[in-house]
Amino acid sequence: MNVFLKAGREKSLLRRHPWIFSGAIQQADSNTASGATVDLLSSDQQFLARASYSPNSQIRARVWTFKDEAVDKEFFRKRIRSAVETRQRSNVESQSNAYRLIYAESDNIPGLIVDRYGDMLVMQYLTAGAEYWKETFADLLLVETGLSTIYERSDADVRELEGLDSKVGILRGSILHDPLTITENDLQFKVNLSEGHKTGFYLDQRKNRLRARELAKDKDVLDCFCYTGGFTVNALAGGAKSALSVDSSADALSLCKENISLNNLPAEHQTSLEGDVFQLLRKFRDEARAFDMIILDPPKFAPTAAHAEKATRAYKDINLLAFKLLRQNGILVTFSCSGGIDTGLFQKIVAGAALDAGIDAQIVEHLSQGADHPISLHFPEGAYLKGLVCIKK
Ligand code: SAH
Repeated sequence: MNVFLKAGREKSLLRRHPWIFSGAIQQADSNTASGATVDLLSSDQQFLARASYSPNSQIRARVWTFKDEAVDKEFFRKRIRSAVETRQRSNVESQSNAYRLIYAESDNIPGLIVDRYGDMLVMQYLTAGAEYWKETFADLLLVETGLSTIYERSDADVRELEGLDSKVGILRGSILHDPLTITENDLQFKVNLSEGHKTGFYLDQRKNRLRARELAKDKDVLDCFCYTGGFTVNALAGGAKSALSVDSSADALSLCKENISLNNLPAEHQTSLEGDVFQLLRKFRDEARAFDMIILDPPKFAPTAAHAEKATRAYKDINLLAFKLLRQNGILVTFSCSGGIDTGLFQKIVAGAALDAGIDAQIVEHLSQGADHPISLHFPEGAYLKGLVCIKK
């Protein structure tokens, strides 16, 4: 099946970016099945790429290959093997038995997310193209990893944009270990695969949690948006004097407590607070509370650039309050996982927060996602997690 682009709309493909938006298409066969493989051709009939077609999505096609080659099981075997080898080369297994094995566009397999949790694979099929090859991908994953169980968590909102329903359940094998316990940088975490966020755990923060552990000694730590205690557990393991963990989810907070005892850390040094971080930070300010280290790891306020303005206000708000609550020489570890906010803008927001808080601060470190979330140079959208370590002067 051929899809012809409008004149001049081949430019992004020539830069090897994998997306074609609906507005770039001159002509496509209306019978093309959801997820089917098509050839993308320029207005002067030149072959540009072979792609999956998604008739309901604004991102109408996602490139499998820029070469004129067969897109079949063997093609995907090579792609999957290459992704697995990238993880072996970056030695992520020495840090954790839970890591991202395949990161969609960034591993040249648009729409496919595969996370490994010990002996379990958790897969997310996010696009029509990934859904089309679902069984092939599952079969190949088992062969290439030697594992036998796959749990599907295709319940991300983005599937709606592709005209796909939500699907959750065992895809291969029969025994589901859920919840299961993973080991990350010598600490254990209980992970709920079926009900946890994303595929169960925020795997992208692994090295930043370790960094927080190194910084936390003797500190009064405030962990905002703590989820199941990734940063809290690390802070306690690093010798924090106290940790106050805040989240709006009671389930996440109870798992946080379990994770503290799982690691034999001093539970008496930790307090959980269920509530809204925006409100609680204001309350702490009014009570003149003070901390030596504050972690801000909020959910995605701006999934795309269209949400950037509102998100900017939200990020500025919490960072401003955090700066006020920090003691002199206190450490702010602040993150944004919003695709719609780039590193430069995030730094400007945090600078604006310091200015409005009336304080001086320095950035001592830039943080990002781990090596198991690689970033293709042709797909900058894959770089979504940015963090700053700031010292209040
Ligand atoms: N730092 C965590 C991941 C944080 S994910 C880790 O390392 O594992 C974001 C968390 O923010 C989720 O647990 C969600 O329940 C929580 N959350 C979202 N909005 C919130 C709000 N307004 N106030 C408090 N918690 C919120």
